[in-house]
Amino acid sequence: MKGSIPEKEKQNSYDSRESWPPYTFRDYADIAPETYNAFMEFLSTENTSNKVMELQPWISFCDSRCTFCYYPNNPFSISMMEPYLKALKKELMMYAKTRYVQTSEFDEIVLGGGTPTLMSKDQMFGLIKFCEQNFNTVDDYFIKITGSSRSFSKEKLVAAADYGVFQVDMGAQTFDDKLRKMLNLPDSAEHVKEEVKLARKLGLCVCIDIMYNIPGQTLESWTNTVKTAIELDAEVDAYCLEVYPETILYKQMQSGQAPPQADPELEKQMYVAAYELFTEAGYKPIGHDRYSREEWHAKENCLNGWPWAGILTTGAGCFMGYLQRFSYSNIENANDYIAAVNEGRFPIAKLSESTDKEMMRKVMTKLYLRLPVDKLEFQERFGKLPEDVYPKQLQRLNEKGLIEIDEKEIKLTKLGDIWKANIAWEFAENK
Ligand code: SF4
Repeated sequence: MKGSIPEKEKQNSYDSRESWPPYTFRDYADIAPETYNAFMEFLSTENTSNKVMELQPWISFCDSRCTFCYYPNNPFSISMMEPYLKALKKELMMYAKTRYVQTSEFDEIVLGGGTPTLMSKDQMFGLIKFCEQNFNTVDDYFIKITGSSRSFSKEKLVAAADYGVFQVDMGAQTFDDKLRKMLNLPDSAEHVKEEVKLARKLGLCVCIDIMYNIPGQTLESWTNTVKTAIELDAEVDAYCLEVYPETILYKQMQSGQAPPQADPELEKQMYVAAYELFTEAGYKPIGHDRYSREEWHAKENCLNGWPWAGILTTGAGCFMGYLQRFSYSNIENANDYIAAVNEGRFPIAKLSESTDKEMMRKVMTKLYLRLPVDKLEFQERFGKLPEDVYPKQLQRLNEKGLIEIDEKEIKLTKLGDIWKANIAWEFAENK
């Protein structure tokens, strides 16, 4: 995928770039007794998928609220952390005791959230040890810790490197201090850079989130952020900001307190600029928004196993959980979550089971993840080829030069990379 994106005139395959997915975790179906029973039944079976999974305990607390955030986090209080961790370990054990999890293997332990670095050093590594002791890991599994640049203290970074943590994830978002202020990111761009440099010096892989299409962001501000990320030798998730109605930023934009987002043309230019800068610097585009120089990231099972593998996520408000056909999110409020776990219930708030038709669509969203669709595997699973199920869509995309189809697989072209969300929409139910 290295190299520049095709000339401008060919870039206009659609009027504007869509976003994907067309829902948030809050749109999942509320938990229903029959789906809950089906999920329990599923957990009592052996995992025969031959896919390795990711284990993702969440620490759903933050010590400030980013204005764009729609995540279900809880305000941080030191006194809540211990009861929360007790409940989190109880929930982890509920899964660990099931046959499905006992016959599964994990290649990643990811502390997600929220802000896991709000835990003390002992709490953090206590939780990682707990996961290592109670879940089957492959020999060369990786540990990742998510956190804010201001709560990754030197002490925690040194301890992470000593423990053998592979990667730390930080939400840098932008290196433009004016934009940082608007997004309510409390520390300066300089401080984020210092934290990344320190972590790199300690030998840790650092993955930072950066965003384009922030209200008021210029192309120059965006490319400066991209260049800084490259200079810092970070792995990068470069994603387009989606402003959801429940966020502070949305209200600020409505009232005129914050400027509007870029028009579709500028947004596309930002995407193309980042793609070119990253690929010229030796990064590979992988997953939906990642630019990577780490060989291992291209092999991650939770990415390559989609949609048949799994992310076993736990904790208040966690919402990226999927185990084969089941997708779930947990109760958001930390107190309600603790109460549910203490009653011995799986603290799931929303749960859905995908039909064959829905799984076929999920398989096609591999294109959105910059992964090829394996035609033989599709046929083995569903008894038909993708061309039998989606003849018009595939013909249209092929004619536009957005995908390539051969006997074995369907994959995105370089031009298709710009439009991967629009491509995912081609297979959606309510296009
Ligand atoms: S740190 Fe992450 S989870 Fe917390 S408020 Fe900011 S975006 Fe949301």
